[in-house]
Amino acid sequence: MAKVIIIGIGGVGTVVACKCAQHPEVFNEIVLASRTLSKCEALAKKIGKPNVTADRVDADSVEELVELFKRHKPDMVINVALPYQDLTIMDACLACGVNYLDTANYEPKDVAHFEYSWQWAYRERFEKAGLTAILGCGFDPGVSGVFTAYAAKHWFSEMETLDIVDCNAGNHGKAFATNFNPEINIREITQNGRYWQDGEWVVTKPLEYHKSLTYPNIGPRDSYLLYHEELESLVINYPTIRRARFWMTFGQEYLTHLRVIQDIGMARIDEVDYNGTKIVPLQFLKAVLPNPQDLGENYTGETSIGCRISGKGKDGKLLTYYIYNNCSHHEAYLETGMQAVSYTTGVPAMCGAMMFLTGKWNLKGVRNVEEFDPDPFLAAIAENGLPWHEIVGGDLEL
Ligand code: NDP
Repeated sequence: MAKVIIIGIGGVGTVVACKCAQHPEVFNEIVLASRTLSKCEALAKKIGKPNVTADRVDADSVEELVELFKRHKPDMVINVALPYQDLTIMDACLACGVNYLDTANYEPKDVAHFEYSWQWAYRERFEKAGLTAILGCGFDPGVSGVFTAYAAKHWFSEMETLDIVDCNAGNHGKAFATNFNPEINIREITQNGRYWQDGEWVVTKPLEYHKSLTYPNIGPRDSYLLYHEELESLVINYPTIRRARFWMTFGQEYLTHLRVIQDIGMARIDEVDYNGTKIVPLQFLKAVLPNPQDLGENYTGETSIGCRISGKGKDGKLLTYYIYNNCSHHEAYLETGMQAVSYTTGVPAMCGAMMFLTGKWNLKGVRNVEEFDPDPFLAAIAENGLPWHEIVGGDLEL
């Protein structure tokens, strides 16, 4: 029995809250805390359980966070605000003796740069305090790392290639919308690509490489090579991997809009002067784009995310292996009011917290998800709406 604070009541936070509330045997008290109190109160009311309450915090302020933690004395914080808040929340956790979990690595606001170094620098402090910080426990990063750990544990003696493949074959009926926070999403996609090859990172131009990959129950989709943060820890934790890549599908309509947004300067993250007011174009764009939380109602189709791995099997023979989950936008919406991208992130975040609070994941310090036992976590996501499947010996197309 434990108390959690969920920070950031957006699309993902809504799913985490709904899912934690389904498990009072683990999460006996749940506090929803975000910048806008009314959103937390509205969700607490909608969930309608006496153990779910609302509070307000500006998670950019360590001081406010410390006050929040002192008020509620949580065992764990589930951070599903924006990546900018990771370090302030980790600082407050250290100050108050609270365990930590997030779904995206820290990014400074003024540079779109993804790496774990900032958060890995907290390792010693968390370890010394006897606390645990679980990094990147959404779907990708998150389940993608646990799928890889599961493959290493049960199938491979040596993994050689890893391709994480992320397909959203859904249709929300809008000309252009992002499936999670538009600012974070556009910053990620417009970066250079990067993949691991024979001990070093190879840099590509944004969306330079693409190929058609076939997704279960969906069919072929053009998939683009991107850099994604889980690659950084996976190639360290599985040093036999000689090539690691990440692929994400995009439709032509989406890419055309994205190109225009960039060409006209709306993807800029530096401040510009507008009639005497400083604005960041990408933040302004976020304010006029559809809110990802409102996409769910008419969203059809499904997501399919998984890992395609090759290497030497436990018997030393060449093995190909594909482990994946498909998630329906409509079913996610019926259960939580959110679409599948929020759902596939929120369910693993709840399950990661559950693993920690029930003692199944008990390493101290700052940890990436693949460092823990994959078995109970994968059983938990399957029981909580994200069943997964395996194809052994198939064509990986890569
Ligand atoms: P949203 O924009 O829908 O929600 C973010 C929430 O954070 C909002 O409720 C916002 O509050 C709150 N917030 C922002 N700044 C602060 C602050 N300073 N203090 C307190 N609360 C704040 O984003 P999503 O739900 O789509 O994404 C949430 C996180 O999940 C992001 O970090 C994203 O990168 C990550 N993610 C991870 C994925 C994975 O698979 N690992 C996939 C998808 C997302 P307000 O509404 O008041 O502005």
